[in-house]
Amino acid sequence: MTAMMEMPRVQECTAIDCAYNQHEGCHAFAITIGTEADHASCTTFFDISTKGGLDAVIAQVGACKRADCRFNAELECRAPAIRVGPSRDMADCMTYEPA
Ligand code: SF4
Repeated sequence: MTAMMEMPRVQECTAIDCAYNQHEGCHAFAITIGTEADHASCTTFFDISTKGGLDAVIAQVGACKRADCRFNAELECRAPAIRVGPSRDMADCMTYEPA
């Protein structure tokens, strides 16, 4: 039997213009971090006036394509938790560290 691993939590997200953001918390069920060459953007970021996500949910990192990050193994994030916020893009993984 395969043990389920826990996905890292998004402990804070300061991209307050995102539809999934409430009070600097991400309430999507899971987010994906993408592949831009020079930064690690949150590709779940969605800038519309409607709010979404689930009040009771704190987002997890569902997938991360940033294979060069020291926390990435097999395209999954192994950090204990991550922070997201505006940086090079509207919402970037602030925990990203090149290996
Ligand atoms: S810490 Fe690294 S592996 Fe985890 S989501 Fe951010 S960029 Fe991806």
